[in-house]
Amino acid sequence: MNLTGMVYRPPYEANSLLLQVTLGCSHNKCSFCYMYPDVQFAVCPMEQVEADIEEAAEAWPNVKRVFLEHGDAFVLSADRLLNIADSIHRNLPNAETIAMYASIQNIRRKTDAELRRLRDAGINWLDIGVESGLDSALQYMNKGHTAAEAQKQLLRLTKAGMDYSFNAILGCGGAERWEENAEATARLINAVQPHLLFLGTLHAEPGCRLYADMKNGTFRECTIGQLLDEQELLIRRLELDNTIYFGSHPSNIVPMQARLPVHKEEMLAIVRQTREQLRSKLEEYPVRGGEGSILSR
Ligand code: SF4
Repeated sequence: MNLTGMVYRPPYEANSLLLQVTLGCSHNKCSFCYMYPDVQFAVCPMEQVEADIEEAAEAWPNVKRVFLEHGDAFVLSADRLLNIADSIHRNLPNAETIAMYASIQNIRRKTDAELRRLRDAGINWLDIGVESGLDSALQYMNKGHTAAEAQKQLLRLTKAGMDYSFNAILGCGGAERWEENAEATARLINAVQPHLLFLGTLHAEPGCRLYADMKNGTFRECTIGQLLDEQELLIRRLELDNTIYFGSHPSNIVPMQARLPVHKEEMLAIVRQTREQLRSKLEEYPVRGGEGSILSR
């Protein structure tokens, strides 16, 4: 069983079976993304997917969770996803959850009835790069959805009984709009009440549009101080009934895992303490790839 190209998965899928069903990302246009720069999107042949499932069943017969690769596997038609789920359940009888990355557009293209059928077939976890609730940031990041569209589609998922992770990025609004970004993103998160909130911090790698814009000054990134202010404001504005907060992404200045609303005050205190600790660095910019290590520098 081979996985083609770079393989990305959420950190909490470390023990899941990674099963390739597509190659690359059907959108592949987000201005900060460097995941599949030269990969032509393709759907894997069903025979290959079935052969991989059978091979996996021999090696790991007790798999409980399967994560479908690559960048937005939920782009597949409901029928194709149902066929894959059927093959997984026939070969891996202990598989409880089938998860994958999904975009807002992927959800929009499925009917309510299809979402329910997919949920009934065990597809019960989507990792969704919503990124922001601020339309100007979404437009610049070229996400292909507005905040209103994201809200509508995420509420459809909830109605279908499907759990998901709302992935948001601190710093999406840049230095001019960190405050607006925090307020708008918190509003959207509150409106949809996700099961899990996955928080990362904006950073750019050479080759993506954002990197070029940062270099030529078109996009002004947030300083460490602004990122901490944005994080504090975002958390302060969150009004959630029961959401897991997963903020341990290596890009984050304040790595944190918690549950909201119970840990809200503790989380705010940690952000404030971090600001104190980093007093001399607040005007600096996070070092790419080393943001989470700022505290130990
Ligand atoms: S949808 Fe995800 S994988 Fe595709 S371009 Fe955007 S960030 Fe990259």
